[in-house]
Amino acid sequence: MRQVYLDNNATTQVAPEVLEAMLPFFTELWGNPSSMHPFGGQVRKHVELARQKVAALIGADPSEIIFTSCGTESDNMAIRGAVEAAGERVIIITTRVEHPAVLEPCRMLKERGHHLVELDVDGGGRLKLADLEQALGLGQALVSVMWANNETGVIFPIPAIAELVKAAGGVMHTDAVQAAGKLPIDMRRMPVDLLSLSGHKLHAPKGIGALYIRKGTRVRSLLLGGHQESGRRGGTENVPYIVGLGRACELAVQKQAEEMTRVAALRDRLQRGILESCSDVLINGDPAQRLPNTLNVSFRYIEGESILYHLSDCGIAASSGSACASGSLEPSHVLRALGVPFIAAHGSIRFSFSRYNTDADVDYVLDQLPEIISKLRAISPFKST
Ligand code: PLP
Repeated sequence: MRQVYLDNNATTQVAPEVLEAMLPFFTELWGNPSSMHPFGGQVRKHVELARQKVAALIGADPSEIIFTSCGTESDNMAIRGAVEAAGERVIIITTRVEHPAVLEPCRMLKERGHHLVELDVDGGGRLKLADLEQALGLGQALVSVMWANNETGVIFPIPAIAELVKAAGGVMHTDAVQAAGKLPIDMRRMPVDLLSLSGHKLHAPKGIGALYIRKGTRVRSLLLGGHQESGRRGGTENVPYIVGLGRACELAVQKQAEEMTRVAALRDRLQRGILESCSDVLINGDPAQRLPNTLNVSFRYIEGESILYHLSDCGIAASSGSACASGSLEPSHVLRALGVPFIAAHGSIRFSFSRYNTDADVDYVLDQLPEIISKLRAISPFKST
């Protein structure tokens, strides 16, 4: 059976070039980069080369990049590290549509006495900058706003947000886990202080991430007990994965512009095809400010999980906007924040593309999906047509 993978916002395939770059670091080059002898020196050189490649993807200086274990660690370190370094009560400003890797540490810090503001979004998933400006008036702030949303693909205007934050004297963090490798990012051109990224969203393996820390930004370490990463993140470096992340970022620099144009055309063709062949469909998130690879679509009156199950039966992998919590299917916090009606939020599916998708993948989905939708509608307790 044909296999079509359209769940690239969940994770991506490791690029063959990335795997090839990593392999020698499991075999010949296995030294500890901190060792003074040549086993260490040879390896250390490659860690620094990888750091340069990650820095190049986002227009940073290599000294501003530290390697972490994942996007979640980078988000936690940025938020907890910056608040703890401030040493006083901080106003934490974030949005209701952030990934749990941001929301949970913010909520934990609120329990510890800091003030938390979770900004609303409108029906298109857009932020109202006036709300942010008002919140910035409350006092010294740490602001964490994602670059692009993992579920809807909606892009926030991070350069403009960072300008407002810096004008108010705050610290600006952005979770760019879904944006890195898909959108141009240039830290020289915007006053963002902290930026998180994750390897497995851009064709490096799972279990490697990076945090950009602008020179002069104070962040307390989460992991104590080692001098690695200039004392900012203890723990012997995961050299093969660091090398893999470097290679993945290098590939993104070379391929991103051309690839994302191609991927956007695939995504747009799928969207058009769905709108033409299925009724009662709603596109979630502002289509004008969306990641080029992401399509979040609600099929009213049917459950996303049933659609996924039938898609999966035909070899098509996507994901739904519901999370199965304690036996009941709760629509995701992101779709709820957009105010997507319950009956539509339940039937939402996210299709997310990568460089490895083709026109034939879109043809195949358009071949299978309309029939699945009409079958499920026919047995829907909510609608009989
Ligand atoms: N932030 C966003 C926006 C994400 O989409 C994800 C993963 O889905 C993360 C953070 C967490 O990244 P990781 O899986 O590397 O911990």
